[in-house]
Amino acid sequence: MQNAAFAAKEINAVYVPFSVRETDLHHAVTGLRTLHVQGFNVTIPHKQNIISCLDRVSLEAQVIGAVNTVAREGNKLVGYNTDAGGFLRSLQYDLGFLPHGRRVVVLGAGGAARACVYALCQAGAAEVVIANRNTARAEALLGEFAPLCPHTNMHVVSLSKETLAAPCLGADLILNTTSIGLDVLDTDTVGASDPLPWGNINSETLFYDVVYKPGFTPLVKRARANGMVALDGIGMLIAQGEEAFKIWTGFDPGDSMRRAVANAN
Ligand code: NDP
Repeated sequence: MQNAAFAAKEINAVYVPFSVRETDLHHAVTGLRTLHVQGFNVTIPHKQNIISCLDRVSLEAQVIGAVNTVAREGNKLVGYNTDAGGFLRSLQYDLGFLPHGRRVVVLGAGGAARACVYALCQAGAAEVVIANRNTARAEALLGEFAPLCPHTNMHVVSLSKETLAAPCLGADLILNTTSIGLDVLDTDTVGASDPLPWGNINSETLFYDVVYKPGFTPLVKRARANGMVALDGIGMLIAQGEEAFKIWTGFDPGDSMRRAVANAN
């Protein structure tokens, strides 16, 4: 999709993938720096460790604790997080959802959750309930973010049908940021690892899964079977890429990335 945007804007550049081992990250970044590469993305498992290889990171990336986009600015490599902005843009563009004053249940407390919770708080969500398998990790996230988000009422619950029943009943949006469903081959069900109390969820509640895979994720299918409007993370993938493109080039890619992804599916 980045190459489609370069072509649409007639920019003489190319976006290529490299597989980098965790132990080689510093060497890889030194190579990119030496070659005067203008920008790059980083993904799992490098989003945290990349920070120590950079000259500067944006305030947002610093708070979230993860960088997914790096730009060369003069002789410096500067890190940004476009997952948070991409998530918000996708919520609005793809789902028509504005978080201001709304109640959201977030499953997960990993890197994607940090970007999404930060984005929800910045956008004025009234309540964010974080449910994670490892509750200590969710408590740590809450401890870091709650002082920065005085207008958002934040709680932690464990990840179970029982503890999620009450928060889900009153939620405007349920967001999955866990990897549940990512490796499920039977695309119809995640079985016992599905933590959502579907019987207690109103069909007006919206569902967003940051995970994406061909043919929709099992949780998106389950939510739709429950009568809910539900989307997977393709919209967020596109929107974070659009934000990165703007950082690197200063241009809005228009709908070139969306078209490229639609044509690829
Ligand atoms: P992390 O490894 O940082 O976090 C993984 C999260 O999933 C943790 O909360 C973890 O819980 C939970 N988890 C993993 N397996 C299970 C399980 N079997 N049952 C319950 N919880 C589980 O990963 P990220 O946050 O970086 O990524 C999560 C997903 O989001 C990935 O699928 C990734 O592809 C997707 N993503 C999508 C983006 C997009 O643009 N659409 C952008 C970024 C990420 P615990 O803490 O208890 O281990």
